[in-house]
Amino acid sequence: MTAPSPVIRDPGQRAVFCGLTGIVWLHRKIEDAFFLVVGSRTCAHLIQSAAGVMIFAEPRFATAILEERDLAGMADAQEEIDRVVARLIERRPDIRLLFLVGSCPSEVIKLDLAKAAERLSRAHAGRTRVLSWSGSGIETTFTQGEDACLASLVPELPAPLAGASPDLLVVGALADVVEDQFARLFDQLGIPARFLPSRRAALETPVGANTRVLLAQPFLSDTLTALERRGARHIPAPFPLGAEGTTAWIRAAARAFGIASEVVDGAIELPRARAHKALARQRTRIGGQRVAFFPDSQLEPSLARFLKEELNAQIVEIGTPYCDRRILGPELQRLDGLPIHEGNDVNRQLDRVRAARPDLTVCGLGLANPLEAEGLSTKWAIELVFSPIQGFEQAGDLAELFARPLARRDRLAV
Ligand code: SF4
Repeated sequence: MTAPSPVIRDPGQRAVFCGLTGIVWLHRKIEDAFFLVVGSRTCAHLIQSAAGVMIFAEPRFATAILEERDLAGMADAQEEIDRVVARLIERRPDIRLLFLVGSCPSEVIKLDLAKAAERLSRAHAGRTRVLSWSGSGIETTFTQGEDACLASLVPELPAPLAGASPDLLVVGALADVVEDQFARLFDQLGIPARFLPSRRAALETPVGANTRVLLAQPFLSDTLTALERRGARHIPAPFPLGAEGTTAWIRAAARAFGIASEVVDGAIELPRARAHKALARQRTRIGGQRVAFFPDSQLEPSLARFLKEELNAQIVEIGTPYCDRRILGPELQRLDGLPIHEGNDVNRQLDRVRAARPDLTVCGLGLANPLEAEGLSTKWAIELVFSPIQGFEQAGDLAELFARPLARRDRLAV
């Protein structure tokens, strides 16, 4: 085994969406929750344009807009929040869980949303629980919104019944189709598994010393810390991306529950073979291609491992906003010592990428167009967060997301 990949800190300016973006997938996942952003018109536009492609009869997010009077301290913003929340709950009695989501403007005026949430939970007790978290772009990158949201849930979760036997908590929002596949697999293995966030009754998932945590997403540092504070124990594992990533992830959970490896082999044999077959088709396109990652979602080390290990791509550079070794340690072991650039100043990385001219650059929307104009093929990092990519059945689709821009480049070159 090679030494784990070194992590090089390269702090500087980044070009990444803020944590409010997480609402786009979280409001689809937690069906009885509502997300009320306390922010500016800019925040409202961000959420609406990011989520605008999804049509709902009754949306489960909104923005309470801070006007100039609020920002100048001329109005009592706490009173305003009480009024807006009371009106919302009156109109939407189905809301069981309400998140007050902080933003740059609410942080700048030091609006205490935790205090508001406590007060509103008391005022609407028995009907709606109110929690708060921050999606402010001052502090968070876009996947950290999910981390902040789940971390706010953890202290509210009930303790398990005394003497409850160990169970598995899979943590991180997954597309429903992926969650169902994993639920079936764990069931087949005889592992009692629950998911956080759960689709409904998000506040009813018990957590305690009998809980074993298997992260489904790598960007959940604060959530993991909050779960460990409740006594839960982390199962370190690579992430379930690709045939081998998913195999290692399932095996790590099975080991924690004492399941024999032959039982695991039997359960995963067919889906794993299907994943390998789907990947073989893409390997001809992606093998040998040079890929660079700008820091965006924190999925970068896992995606790079998948491309290198399962599709024979050459990794030019891995940038990631943060690299928590507790969580990413097993991925760092599989990257053949390739360095991870944590933080990664955007201007310095742009210089390196322009010099290296990779075949594919995975980056945020803001960088993609200029790089395309310079003749570099790009992949929007955000698509990899919005798409169902985890698990055996999705391995081929994940590879396809990388193959598509390469195929487009080849067509344009003809
Ligand atoms: S939270 Fe900040 S970065 Fe995000 S949309 Fe609002 S103002 Fe912009």
